[in-house]
Amino acid sequence: ARPYDPQKVEQVLNTAHALYKDTNAGANADYIPALAKVDSSLFAIAIVTADGQVFTQGDIDATFSIQSISKVFTLALAMEQQGSEAIVDKIGVNATGLPFNSVAAIELNQDRSVNPLVNAGAMATVSLLEGDKTQQKWQSIATWYDQFAGRELAVMNEVYQSESATNGHNLAIAELLKSYDRFYGDVDMNLDIYTRQCSVGVTTKDLAMMASVLANGGTHPVTGEALMTAENVQRVLAVMATAGLYETSGDWAFQVGLPAKSGVGGGIIAVMPGKFAIAAFSPKLDEAGNSVRAQRAIDYIADKANANVFSHL
Ligand code: GLN
Repeated sequence: ARPYDPQKVEQVLNTAHALYKDTNAGANADYIPALAKVDSSLFAIAIVTADGQVFTQGDIDATFSIQSISKVFTLALAMEQQGSEAIVDKIGVNATGLPFNSVAAIELNQDRSVNPLVNAGAMATVSLLEGDKTQQKWQSIATWYDQFAGRELAVMNEVYQSESATNGHNLAIAELLKSYDRFYGDVDMNLDIYTRQCSVGVTTKDLAMMASVLANGGTHPVTGEALMTAENVQRVLAVMATAGLYETSGDWAFQVGLPAKSGVGGGIIAVMPGKFAIAAFSPKLDEAGNSVRAQRAIDYIADKANANVFSHL
């Protein structure tokens, strides 16, 4: 593989940041009150290559909540614990094509299958994980995320409290799944764990580091730890490519062509298998809940790097 020239990478990140830092379209998520208060001018970009080089740009020390990007890593943990067939049978892997908190998505499928990267399937995925006590299950998720980040992450308490206090919609989704035998444990306990995982604080560099494991076939490029099988990486990336940006996942695949995942905290990760992972963060979201600046920055960088999983190049 052609190694990346560090100076060129720096320059591309620099330009991406300069090009989009004044883009003001979109709005912070406000259905979780704590997210509405985040400084919407924050903007950061990071790349971690599959051989562990790190590049950063912008507000790289800003910590924000991981939100739905956590779904990728919990899915990875569930696959490692139970095998990918269990995910297909008990959750589902087809894109819903609907908003991340859609109730209709559950009702529309005869077999009530959903997708692990939207709220319904993500909460059900938490319910599938080993461990019957909150603390035990939470600890295994937290440790798993730390292994991907290569450092110890922490829950942002204000976000966790804020989201817990306004969680009625997710509770309704979980109860509905449970009524169809598509939820695999106690609703309150697993909803609480899901809410904690969404409230984990990360920097943009942490996200790029976490995603770099997926770019490197399951082995952490910096710590050297083998975290996932190559087969499970492939499957997680397939779900990201088809459902990572909710109902605009098709537009994203068409425009950018990289498996990706967004969160309503304003973060997005994208993966070029075998090459690198990009993370970008800025709080203002489009209608689907995807950060406007992060999408543009990743689009620009992927284009400059000739990175598209559907390309023959
Ligand atoms: N914690 C958020 C929720 O459950 C995550 C949603 C998201 O990032 N799209 O609504």
